Amino acid sequence: MSNKYQKFSSVFLVFALLTSVLPSQFYAQRRVNKTSITNEMKLDLLIKGGTVIDGSGSAPVKTDIGIRGDRIVFVGKSARLKIDAARTFDAAGMIVAPGFVDPHTHTLEDLSNPKSSGNEDYLMQGVTTVITGNDGDGPFRIAETLEKWRRQGIGTNAALLVGQGNVRGEVLGAGDVQPTIEQLTRMKNLIAQAMDEGAFGMSTGLYYAPGSFAKTEEVIELAKAAAEKGGVYDTHMRDEGSYSIGLLGSIRETIRIGREAKIPVHISHIKALGKDVWGQSRQAVRLIKQARAAGIKITANQYPYTASGTNITAALVPRWAEAGGRTELLKRIRDPQIRPRLVLEMEANLKRRNGAEAILITRSRNQELIGKTLGAIAQGRKKSPVETALEIVEDGGASIASFNMSESDIDYFMKQSFVMTGSDGSSGHPRKYGTFPRKLREYVFGKKLITLPFAIRTSSALTAETFRIPERGLLKAGYFADVIVFDPQTIADRATYEQPETLAVGMKYVVVNGQIAVNEGKYTGILAGRPLRKTLRQIK
Ligand SMILES: [Zn+2]
Repeated sequence: MSNKYQKFSSVFLVFALLTSVLPSQFYAQRRVNKTSITNEMKLDLLIKGGTVIDGSGSAPVKTDIGIRGDRIVFVGKSARLKIDAARTFDAAGMIVAPGFVDPHTHTLEDLSNPKSSGNEDYLMQGVTTVITGNDGDGPFRIAETLEKWRRQGIGTNAALLVGQGNVRGEVLGAGDVQPTIEQLTRMKNLIAQAMDEGAFGMSTGLYYAPGSFAKTEEVIELAKAAAEKGGVYDTHMRDEGSYSIGLLGSIRETIRIGREAKIPVHISHIKALGKDVWGQSRQAVRLIKQARAAGIKITANQYPYTASGTNITAALVPRWAEAGGRTELLKRIRDPQIRPRLVLEMEANLKRRNGAEAILITRSRNQELIGKTLGAIAQGRKKSPVETALEIVEDGGASIASFNMSESDIDYFMKQSFVMTGSDGSSGHPRKYGTFPRKLREYVFGKKLITLPFAIRTSSALTAETFRIPERGLLKAGYFADVIVFDPQTIADRATYEQPETLAVGMKYVVVNGQIAVNEGKYTGILAGRPLRKTLRQIK
């Protein structure tokens, strides 16, 4: 008797566990199928008469979208159906698309601060999901960050990458040192733990200290830990120009990491940095295509600007001078034995970035520097550009816009089907407020380099697929209702290098998880985003 009872109760327990563990979307999917065959439908929101571009890359269709709760329940003509919608958007003359997904942002602080957690700068671009923790700089305490966001609320969905730079810093410090087997294991464990806590993958910033001190073999070992948990590898490569192993050498390194760690690899903000490598977009794409043909999963993202955004130290100071951290750097700058070599190498680096006139200060403690080029500041101080740069570094550094890309390389990368839109938004650079609408305004409607369905796909579904974010990025029944409605006549970026914090225009409605975040072109103030936690179920 007790045996039978035990049997029954354990079966019941398994059932109860299953139903509580299975994601709610599992049920939503079934509900959808049921409702789509009846003629009466209760909706929370009907988006009517728009030109729907669903994110798959297929041609635009004039049709309607029905939303209930946090889900899209149908995509199709609503005229035949009896619909009772709590709210209707008239989308005539508008484009209806999936909310954009940004694979590379620096929104960690914005999202964590209640004053900026709405992510309005992204919502106004139509971005409904951001990934952050890129450049090796992501936190490794993933659960803690996700929980904080859940508690405080966030305006867009957000996913995290664990940062190799931070993990290395935690275990090895800021020095130019190599790990012991034991230290390597500790780093791998931190990555594995971060993945268990919900990270979507691992990011590296092999250009930056201390990530740069890691050899390829070390990165491969860490990437394996992420790969085992279904993670993706995202990288700011070791060199995008002619600093060390070169742009092409860096692409080869990324491909090797993908092959040996058996992990999908993603090149962030792909570019040919500096005149030395202008034109190499062709060879770069050829290498990537060869790797893809050989079965390596490799993709990239890009922002549509000729200037990158970084800080003056990362741009000009060689990494050996940064080893050990800022105090060590300052000592080396002031050491008469070391300084001449430092100056010499910085002169070469400045040349790699197209000279002092191509470096614009966008943020600095010294307000007078903002909006001026390094060349102009040097002239004012009657000093060489590198001596001036060293003064600025000693003074606490500065954010810069570094004009180092050619339009021709930008165009060539953008046309590739594996290159998606990514803002790399950082303060002081207009890309944080303008990337997505700018791609539409300049490259789709302006010079017609790419089509609108292609631009939408590379701004939504492709990114969700690449980073294995389930049920987002497409307008499809059963998917989360992240939907944007914009005016193709007016959609545009407004942010400039002079006024980088200017919101984009033309986004009429932005719906995040079924809730209206932008209404008639204005942010409603709602925090409808969700912290996204990777679960093993999501592994394909
Ligand atoms: Zn970066």
